[in-house]
Amino acid sequence: MKKLLLLLFLPICVFAQVGEDELVNPKDIIHDVVIDLRYSTTEHKFLNLPEGDMPLPKFYTANECLMVLKGVLQLKIAQDSLRNIREHNGKTYPNGIGIKIWDGYRPRAVQYLFWDIYPNGAFIANPASGSKHNRGGAVDLTLIDLATSEELVMPTAFDDFSNRASHTFSGSLLTQEQVANRKLIKDIMVNVAGMGWYSAEWWHYEVAGANSLPLLDFQMK
Ligand SMILES: [Zn+2]
Repeated sequence: MKKLLLLLFLPICVFAQVGEDELVNPKDIIHDVVIDLRYSTTEHKFLNLPEGDMPLPKFYTANECLMVLKGVLQLKIAQDSLRNIREHNGKTYPNGIGIKIWDGYRPRAVQYLFWDIYPNGAFIANPASGSKHNRGGAVDLTLIDLATSEELVMPTAFDDFSNRASHTFSGSLLTQEQVANRKLIKDIMVNVAGMGWYSAEWWHYEVAGANSLPLLDFQMK
């Protein structure tokens, strides 16, 4: 009986030992979330450099996502809701819809590299004050079909630094599917999961009070 009680209470104890502001791996809490940190590869579209330009480096040392626990618990609410969707905008999703994470915690040293390359405050936070990503309080993500792992069609690719990435970019210049999916991601992340959003980037969401979390600077392992 003692063993059974121990097993029953173990998950609660694990969470109790981790404060809500501590970094955790979303995979440990959301089993079917997809982690695809674009900055751990050379395939990211940072700056959308045309082919032939000098390739950009891998900014991260591993495809290892981290975020504060309170944010991951909000992502879990979003994923639990998305997983139950079987039809959206005329398309069927036999296994539901899921989240693919493109970026989470980002070492502050990488923020300095970003700023050196593209010092534009609309899309890159000044490293002097730091990004909410440097605090583990922000996440960049898109939606996928859980049956096929295909990404849902959105207005832009990740890191498209143009006004087309804005939530307010005119729907008349997008397809009806792009508008419907942009609305779905914001509705779920904001209205269901309760996260904050950023009008200039449809992929960016954050926890309340993210700016008061400490700035961090270590690489992923
Ligand atoms: Zn972001």
